[in-house]
Formats: sequence, C-alpha cells, structure tokens
Amino acid sequence: MTQITLALTKGRILKETLPLLEEAGIVPTEDIFSSRKLVFPTNRPGLRLIILRGSDVPTYVQFGAADIGIAGKDVLLEHQGDGYYEPLDLGIAQCKLMTAVPVGSSVQKGRLRVATKYINVARQFYAEQGRQADLIKLFGAMELAPILDLAHEIVDIVDTGNTLRANGLEARDEIADISARLIVNKAAMKTKFSELQSTVDALTRVVMK
Ligand code: AMP
Repeated sequence: MTQITLALTKGRILKETLPLLEEAGIVPTEDIFSSRKLVFPTNRPGLRLIILRGSDVPTYVQFGAADIGIAGKDVLLEHQGDGYYEPLDLGIAQCKLMTAVPVGSSVQKGRLRVATKYINVARQFYAEQGRQADLIKLFGAMELAPILDLAHEIVDIVDTGNTLRANGLEARDEIADISARLIVNKAAMKTKFSELQSTVDALTRVVMK
C-alpha cells in the first residue's frame, strides 16, 4: 500500500488543523497532545502524521521526506524553497505579518535596525520600500528588541495585537496576510497522484463548506 506522510505544524496551527482533518475523515489513532511521539498513525492505514516545528514543514515536504504538509504562509514566505505546490489556503491560523515600533515613535532617519525571525521577508520588504535596513536575526521574543534598544523596529506576526500592546509597541506597516496553507511535494504529486489528490480534494471540500 502507498504510504502518505502528512507533516503538521505543532502549536496553535495544530489545534486548528485537527478539527479540519477530522472533517476530512482523517483522525489520529492516538492523542497527539498527551504524547511525546513525533509520528502518529491515523484511521487511514496508508496515512501517517508527523509533528514538526513550523519552519521545518516546508523542508520535509521540499525534499519529499513528507508528501504533504500544513504550514503558515509566514513560514512559506520565509523559506523561499521550491519543490512543492501550494494548492489550498486552509483559512485557519489567520494573522498578519507586520512591522511594529515603540508607541508614538517617529520614522527613524538614516539606517534602520530591524529585529526579526523573518530575515528573507524583511530584506525584500525594506528593499521594496527603498529603505536601508540592517537585519538582526532573532528566534523569539522579538518584542523585547526595541525595549532594550537592540533594534528600532521589528517584523513579526500580529493577531490580536495584545503582545505588542503589552510591550509598548504598535503595528505600523502590513507586509502580508497570513493563514495556514497546504503544500504538496511536486514529485510525490506525480508518483502518488490518486492518494494525494483525494486528500487535497477532501480538505478542499471542508474548507469550501
Ligand atoms: P497577538 O498578541 O494576538 O497579536 O499574538 C501575537 C503572537 O502570537 C505573535 O508573537 C506570534 O508569535 C503568535 N501568533 C499569533 N498568531 C499566530 C499564528 N497564526 N501562527 C503562529 N503564531 C501566531
């Protein structure tokens, strides 16, 4: 039997993904949240789930280690890989990728320091704006960077804006609308066409409902 591996993003996206999968008839046979396992069988014998950090999902799918995956558009924009199709916007985990600055701060004259984990996205955004920016790579707690003068502004995901407000920051420019997307390995789409297409179709029906 053909084995399909579906890579899921742990955390917030996973919580919103599992109900969608269930509606599409895909149910893990063990409780993902109470286990430390990374591979989970499902009710469909030929389909297993793997649970990854979001930024690793496009890497697994690009190289065909997973056939199909679910990742945030922010991660896909930053990854800039090829080797996969992006056939479906799942409409979950919606948020925006934005710049944010200390409340009331005026536009920085001269060279801007920007802290972010989205280095590629930020490089492209500031270049398009014609602004010189030195980018500082962080892996978390971006909001701290302006407070401690590591950077003038940050590029980060904003949902309710509560995290920014709690740290004296405000959103300024919108870079992209974000939601979780389905991605499919290009080679697998040929070699495992019927299995993958039926999974994409099932999820499309759920999302279009
Ligand atoms: P909020 O305080 O609601 O604006 O949420 C902001 C924080 O939550 C950000 O720093 C993100 O790390 C995280 N976050 C919000 N929405 C998402 C999402 N859709 N995917 C991943 N992380 C998110």
